[in-house]
Amino acid sequence: MNMRLSRSIIGEAEAKAVSRVLLEDGYLGMGNETRKFEADLAQFLEVDPGQVITVNSGTAALHLACDAVRELAGQTPGQPEILVPSLTFVASFQAITAAGCKPIACDVLLETGTLDLEDAAQRISENTIGLMYVDYASNPWQLSTVYEFAKKHNLRVIEDAAHAFGCRHHGERIGSFGDLVCFSFDGIKNITCGEGGCVVAFDDKAASLIKDARLLSVEGDTAKRFSGGRSWEADVKRQGWRYHLSNIMAAIGREQLKRFPKEFLPKRTLRAQVYGQRLCKQDGIALFQVDPKDFIVPHIQVVRVLDGRKEHLRTELEKKGIPTGLHYKPNHLHTFFGAGQVHLPKAEQLFSEILTLPLHPALSCQDVEEICATVAKALA
Ligand SMILES: *Cc1c(COP(=O)(O)O)cnc(C)c1O
Repeated sequence: MNMRLSRSIIGEAEAKAVSRVLLEDGYLGMGNETRKFEADLAQFLEVDPGQVITVNSGTAALHLACDAVRELAGQTPGQPEILVPSLTFVASFQAITAAGCKPIACDVLLETGTLDLEDAAQRISENTIGLMYVDYASNPWQLSTVYEFAKKHNLRVIEDAAHAFGCRHHGERIGSFGDLVCFSFDGIKNITCGEGGCVVAFDDKAASLIKDARLLSVEGDTAKRFSGGRSWEADVKRQGWRYHLSNIMAAIGREQLKRFPKEFLPKRTLRAQVYGQRLCKQDGIALFQVDPKDFIVPHIQVVRVLDGRKEHLRTELEKKGIPTGLHYKPNHLHTFFGAGQVHLPKAEQLFSEILTLPLHPALSCQDVEEICATVAKALA
């Protein structure tokens, strides 16, 4: 077997769209195509087009969301803090520090790998201004409870929904409700722009800050660029970044969004179903729990390998040409984020157990069957 853990699914439609921007439009920066991508996303998410702010990566989306939360929070006695589950991509943590805030690593639930609210509650201080929730492995577990918790403690919520494009929580699409919801459209996510991302903002002040901040905080530059103009004399009052999405990337994203409902969504869910059926009774493997009221379009297929047998299983799979991944090394163990000064027992236990198996639309269901058979053999 020679398979990939994950991959971009790009074809003729995306190539044509890029070629249209290059050869017909000829305007490569943030313009018409970006405006239309934001409108398409807004339609898909059933929100107002003004609420969707595209940027050039998911990390940029998280950074600008944290920056807006810090700006709107006002003064805190010490450095502003944002609660975040330790089991996430390092981008979540880097975005918090990039915005001048301190990431407060929280433990996660063993059953889902998502934020443990009880642990988070104990880490609230007078400096806490927000909470970053991660839809880990596309699972919006307890998301409505998380929003209630945040409301009770007067915290803004930055949702890292990089894994969760197309998912639903209790019937509601992720990105159709909340506070500041961030998506990634990097090469291997549920839809891609090549590289890209967006913030969906549910409050006008934050939306306006984020829109300007992606264009070096030149006030009102988004509207100017979308009507083909520039802001030669607009004032700049705060720090900004060059984080806007180009027409080229937006053109790819628009084609991907068209393909998502009938192609990527059913292919990803079907492959995850096969994994679920084959592995739910597998000795030595535990699958994460999901809420039957949630709908999951899986970005990654993570399993827990019990009884200290992860390295054995990983080696056996690699021998057969089946690549595996690790999502993720808990961030509180990184040197930059405290080098394990705090002890988060469940995140650390999961670190020793979790293994990511191949999942993407180009993988056949037969491939998934073979992977599961190889798992069964290795653990027999
Ligand atoms: C992919 C990802 C990001 C960052 O997105 P980029 O577009 O790669 O910058 C952030 N958080 C999580 C959980 C991710 O998987």
